[in-house]
Amino acid sequence: MTGTLFVVATPIGNLADLSARAIETLRAVALIACEDTRTSRTLLAHFGIATPTMALHQHNERAAAAKVIGVLREGKHAALISDAGTPALADPGAWLVAEAHRAGIAVRAIPGPNAAAAAVSAAGFAASRFLFAGFLPASAAARRKALPALDLPYPVAIYEAPHRVRETLADLAGHFGAEREVVIARELTKKFEEVSRLPLGNATAWLDERREREQGEFVLVLAPGEERSASTLDAERVLDVLLEALAPSEAAKLAARITGVPKSELYRRALERSK
Ligand code: SAM
Repeated sequence: MTGTLFVVATPIGNLADLSARAIETLRAVALIACEDTRTSRTLLAHFGIATPTMALHQHNERAAAAKVIGVLREGKHAALISDAGTPALADPGAWLVAEAHRAGIAVRAIPGPNAAAAAVSAAGFAASRFLFAGFLPASAAARRKALPALDLPYPVAIYEAPHRVRETLADLAGHFGAEREVVIARELTKKFEEVSRLPLGNATAWLDERREREQGEFVLVLAPGEERSASTLDAERVLDVLLEALAPSEAAKLAARITGVPKSELYRRALERSK
């Protein structure tokens, strides 16, 4: 009999968010694979959990996973945690989980905190789904290129680092327009937590209002865009590609010929895009 791999969500700030089942599981397993053993020590010590730990992060994931699988094959149970929130969501761990499945080892999730889910739930955009976009590319050019794919008729949750949040909010305003709303969820569950819903055009002023607002951890939830037909979406994709090489009028003319969407509509959009 092999053991079970428990994928355990841990707090994203407030230690009281560790569930009773998570505590019980972390106490009961033979080994805890942690993204960073030093970070997790604080959490484990707080709950008096003395289970042995080992590091499993993006630089040693395969070798570390093999060791955990070895323990599971001996019939012992193991847990996977990350520094904060749900493992394998913008965090290491997916390789170990996949290896466990490949080895026929039972995998169980102990669900709990996740920054994206918390931010979307506190954003108040009525929608039956959302896109978890994770972190956008770090370079400005690549980030801007990624934005057209985020124009969706449902909310988009974006993780962002504090040193890039100003630039990303400005890029979002440039691409989606000043009127589109955003929810800035900062330091969720922590002492200086803020959840503010505002038009993208006011985001820079919001940051400027208090210097400390540019510090901490952020989730940005972009409000849903308009529902658009498949043909309009295709035409916009074609237009975006053509705009990489052509002037707005040329790009709109060719996109209209390729897709059948009226040229005037595409020209208006091309002008917005090239602002
Ligand atoms: N696995 C984690 C989860 O389930 O949310 C995410 C880990 S990812 C490496 C870290 C990013 O999550 C941060 O840069 C930030 O964007 C977001 N995040 C984590 N904790 C947060 C918090 N307390 N408030 C706002 N955002 C947070």
